[in-house]
Amino acid sequence: MLRFVTGNEGKVREAREYLPEPVERVDYDYTEVQSDSLTEIAAAGARESYEAIGDPVFVDDAGLFVEGLGGFPGPYSAYVEETLGVERVWRLAEGECDEPRRASFRAVVAFCAGADVETFDGSVRGRLVAPRGEGGFGYDPIFEHTGRTLAEMSTKEKNAISHRGRALAAFGDWLAER
Ligand code: IMP
Repeated sequence: MLRFVTGNEGKVREAREYLPEPVERVDYDYTEVQSDSLTEIAAAGARESYEAIGDPVFVDDAGLFVEGLGGFPGPYSAYVEETLGVERVWRLAEGECDEPRRASFRAVVAFCAGADVETFDGSVRGRLVAPRGEGGFGYDPIFEHTGRTLAEMSTKEKNAISHRGRALAAFGDWLAER
């Protein structure tokens, strides 16, 4: 059994498709440290969650990095989604960035089962487009990869190419070797 500390059901759905063991969602509101590094944020979250819960846990921290906006919103993606919303991030990119409005998603999975934290990262490149699609969550409707937005893909299809899918695959390989 793997314990995934997150409030996001979309992330749990993706982890269940990917990992070789059953995944249980744990609700624990760890402190998101202020940092420009997703790895630092995820590692601190995993350590704090492990200390609070007392069982091995993993967390995931992700962000959208828009090239023409100097990497914004990056590690602040959750705050920007809450305050501006995805539609306005698209309008900002539409007004400020030249075609093809390149962007990438990055995710870091951090696993803590004791003194050490193991981290695994993944990324996917794409471009920002006007919102399309009903699936996924967060910024998926405005992120296009090879002709389709992530919101137009099934969970399986998204996992096969996504930042989180790649980070989870690396985590899964590491678990299998352990
Ligand atoms: P966090 O990793 O939960 O802090 O997420 C950061 C922000 O990125 C939130 O606004 C999420 O909705 C968004 N986000 C994280 N992963 C994805 C994804 O796979 N697709 C779209 N948005 C995502």
